[in-house]
Amino acid sequence: MPDTSLLSGLIASRQRGASQKMPLTLRGRVVLPMHGPALDGGWVRIVGSRIIAVGRRRPDGPVIDLGDSILLPGLVNPHCHLEFSSISTPLPPEPPGGLAGWIPAVMQARFAETSNPAAAIAAGLHESAAAGVTLIGEIATAPPTLAYPTHGVPRLRLYRECLGLSSHRGALSLKQLRRSLDRVPPHVSAGISPHAAYSVHAGLARQLLRLAAARHLPVAVHLAESREEHELLAHDTGPFRTLLERLGAWPSPPPRLLSTADWISLGCRAPRAAFIHATHLDEAALARLSRHRDRAAVIVCPRTAALISGQLAPLQALRRAGVRVAIGTDGRGSAPDLSPRHEAAVVVDRGLVSPDEAVAMITTDAAWAIASESTAGQLAAGRRADLAVLRPSSWSADPAADVLCPTTEVVATLRGGRLIHAAAGSPF
Ligand SMILES: [Zn+2]
Repeated sequence: MPDTSLLSGLIASRQRGASQKMPLTLRGRVVLPMHGPALDGGWVRIVGSRIIAVGRRRPDGPVIDLGDSILLPGLVNPHCHLEFSSISTPLPPEPPGGLAGWIPAVMQARFAETSNPAAAIAAGLHESAAAGVTLIGEIATAPPTLAYPTHGVPRLRLYRECLGLSSHRGALSLKQLRRSLDRVPPHVSAGISPHAAYSVHAGLARQLLRLAAARHLPVAVHLAESREEHELLAHDTGPFRTLLERLGAWPSPPPRLLSTADWISLGCRAPRAAFIHATHLDEAALARLSRHRDRAAVIVCPRTAALISGQLAPLQALRRAGVRVAIGTDGRGSAPDLSPRHEAAVVVDRGLVSPDEAVAMITTDAAWAIASESTAGQLAAGRRADLAVLRPSSWSADPAADVLCPTTEVVATLRGGRLIHAAAGSPF
């Protein structure tokens, strides 16, 4: 049984800011450091906000034994839109279906009179903490005056979104982006998100990538999300063209749009480029991703892809091509919750990856995809003490499978050694 009195006393004093120098050693039935094998009977020792050691067997000094639990790095959700976190169930696409049918539904939600982005973002951050998440790659569309909470919730990499099909709209968006990049709050990492291949004209794309390269910022782009996107990029026709005209966003003369493969080459001028969804990749795009795999990652959101496209990204082809793949949740406009574990379970259930690979896709690979691999995704000495404590209801021979099991509970989430979530009735 865990020593609950000692643990809660220690945690409470750490929350108050006292005793930060006092080592806190947490032991679980299994520790998954994610840079080596699982440690049966492993432990993690924390001083202040950092991990100072990870090991197995009996450590020196007092130990908090968390009993039948798994300790692993705080989960990383590399792609989210927190502003939709108050949507209770995913929005079904309207006719004609697919992405061109879903966008009007989500725009209606965004501009609804009752929409309160600040409250939705706060709710999404707390939901994420309860899901074991300590770092989120967030696409930020709200004005920079809307401040994200930065304490007591997961860390953020804020990708400021930019889009425009006309030169006027693009110039305005770029100006706002520059202003918001100059106001990135402390404790938040920055990034740039050229929104999507169908919403950013070629000239704006080049300006954004020049800016990302000059400021050493990672980028995130929605890419190859639907068949209709291919049709628009190749021929300026199809349901997307109809939608953009209806929204008054399709300029005359028509904008020059980049192909999927060209977006990959251009995106990789940034120090790290995350291509989101990549459900409909052609051979040229796959080859381009492979060529740039030292800085390109694909982030898939399986439940969103199933809702919007009725199919998943070609995970096995991507992995054969050596491309790093991470798993994100997307926003609650298209996903039923913000749990990376629940997303990862989908690809394991479909037999596309092993549980080990899937857990890497929501920890180490997800951290890499958003250029945070030096600080997140692993439990190791010198790293931030960001971790999740899980308690499976039953145990298999594979702890990674137990991490993803839907009945496994997130007992606690620690960020920098401090609790940002504790389940009711848990020793925390
Ligand atoms: Zn998205």
